[in-house]
Amino acid sequence: MGTGILVLVETDGGVPRKTATELIAKATALGLGPVSAAVIGPVDASSLGGVKVYQVESAQLAHYSTGATVKALQALVAAADPAVVLAPASLNSKDALPRLAVRLGAGLAVEVTDLRAEGGQLVGKRPIYAGKALVDVKVAGLGIFTVRPNSFPGGVAPAGSAQIVAVDAGITAADVDTELVEVLAPASKAVDLTEADRIVSGGRSLKSKESFDAVVRPLAAAAKATVGASRAAVDAGYAGHGDQVGQTGKVVNPSLYIALGISGAIQHLAGMRTSRVIVSVNKDPEAPIFQYTTYGIVGDLFEIAPLLQKELAAH
Ligand SMILES: Cc1cc2nc3c(=O)[nH]c(=O)nc-3n(C[C@H](O)[C@H](O)[C@H](O)COP(=O)(O)OP(=O)(O)OC[C@H]3O[C@@H](n4cnc5c(N)ncnc54)[C@H](O)[C@@H]3O)c2cc1C
Repeated sequence: MGTGILVLVETDGGVPRKTATELIAKATALGLGPVSAAVIGPVDASSLGGVKVYQVESAQLAHYSTGATVKALQALVAAADPAVVLAPASLNSKDALPRLAVRLGAGLAVEVTDLRAEGGQLVGKRPIYAGKALVDVKVAGLGIFTVRPNSFPGGVAPAGSAQIVAVDAGITAADVDTELVEVLAPASKAVDLTEADRIVSGGRSLKSKESFDAVVRPLAAAAKATVGASRAAVDAGYAGHGDQVGQTGKVVNPSLYIALGISGAIQHLAGMRTSRVIVSVNKDPEAPIFQYTTYGIVGDLFEIAPLLQKELAAH
């Protein structure tokens, strides 16, 4: 087995996503040996600090495809030879990393929300049963851990400039097993829900798309937050499918989650329960969401949301 921690860096237009520095900083603080990074495609490594960056570049990797990506990751892990691989719990990770784990004979711990070193080994904490319980996970041999975005604050990589090591993964057109038909840009320029540090979500109680737009979106703008929604709100057409938080929507992990008129069904909680601070507005004092709420406001959201918006806009 190898040594140290390899962090898989995801990029957006060649710029490392926020999760890259979150994971590199945490990996460094764990003190479990050398920290290196792995990246597919072009990267501006200036924000990654002094870590060694293993990089695979290929025209076949211009767009995500499972076969080519897993082959590239396999070559990157072989080059770095780590004891642990850390990756963001992203959509692509969900697709590629179980296959990578099988190919490498590695153990896989997904959706981890905390990491610690114990006896020279990495221990991950992850929610199970839709967030009802937390378990510690250790992996014997090579371990791959996917970590929810925003699990670690700060995200400042160690000082120094990255040293890039080019890796040849031998990728050919035959490895590209999907065809890209079209890329649909999201309507909003806000930070993606899964990485958002602040979220304002609305539920069925908003009653119409017009009032969702008039109440939830301005509050989100004032809070510099991304808009989310319950499934009931999405099914009713108040918000898009990409905005749904929960078991069949997106799992989010912000430092602030404001829930407006959301009851707190188990399927919604499964997607947002690990949020650091939860503020709930509900006119029913018995609403289940209050059991998981840091600051609860019993009241009519149509009165409370504008007050919150005014306060937030003043700061
Ligand atoms: C297999 C499965 C998967 C699911 N996946 C998801 C998922 O991913 N995400 C998800 O969200 N749900 C999911 N659901 C649905 C989930 O069970 C709930 O039905 C849904 O979350 C309810 O949405 P809601 O809280 O907006 O609506 P409701 O449960 O109807 O709650 C509305 C709340 O608003 C309050 N309210 C009403 N008017 C006001 C007002 N004026 N001011 C303040 N409060 C007010 C009410 O007191 C109530 O608590 C799933 C269900 C199933 C079966």
